[in-house]
Amino acid sequence: MDGSMIKVHSYESMGTYDGPGLRLVVFLQGCNFRCAYCANPDTITCDGDKPTPVEEIVRMAVSEKPFFGKKGGVTFSGGEPTMQARQLIPLFEALKSEGIHICVDTNGSIVNDDVRKLLSMTDIVLLDVKEFNDKRHKELTERSNSNTLATAKWLEENGKAFWLRYVLVPGITSFREDIEALCAHFASYKMIQRIEILPYHTLGKHKYEHLGMPYRLEGVKENTPEEIDEAANIFRKYFDCVCVN
Ligand code: SF4
Repeated sequence: MDGSMIKVHSYESMGTYDGPGLRLVVFLQGCNFRCAYCANPDTITCDGDKPTPVEEIVRMAVSEKPFFGKKGGVTFSGGEPTMQARQLIPLFEALKSEGIHICVDTNGSIVNDDVRKLLSMTDIVLLDVKEFNDKRHKELTERSNSNTLATAKWLEENGKAFWLRYVLVPGITSFREDIEALCAHFASYKMIQRIEILPYHTLGKHKYEHLGMPYRLEGVKENTPEEIDEAANIFRKYFDCVCVN
């Protein structure tokens, strides 16, 4: 290891939502997207991080290893982990040498050699595709989805397993034609192991008030069960690995 410091926001032990099995989830600081529904707005800026030596995260992961079982491991989420790809490479090497399973939850928007190396060492990539229609993607995230789609293609071409995650927001990402187009685009992908539909929730809303930030989805209601079923049924026409989280 080379003494790299990682900008950590927080940790969650025994997480069950971000990858298979029981996991240590490491939330990293800093994100290049500005998603209107971001549940962790306090991770977006690069301020307020806890610079943490690689060795400390390895120690924590190794100490929790008995709980991981066959399927669990460590997930890097955020924030956007690939913003720190270069610093994470020695950490991933150390975790791999301990036999620890790694997931990375990413918006897929950063494309460079460090990120490719990082994703090559990742066991399962959790790729967040926010919207297929780029105009709506830009309204939602203030960025284009072109690199995200390029990352998906790279994962497919390089035989890297990934889960495609889709946050379903009524009237924002719930357009039937966009979901159909997304499904048609990915229908031939063999490396998608799972499609996760994540219903919209307002659990992060209080953080915006606390941070003095406007909440851009004010007034948007959570999905009804019918809306979730409708979206899930579109995905199920194309994929047999759809779940609602
Ligand atoms: S990509 Fe994730 S962390 Fe970044 S703004 Fe969007 S929801 Fe938040």
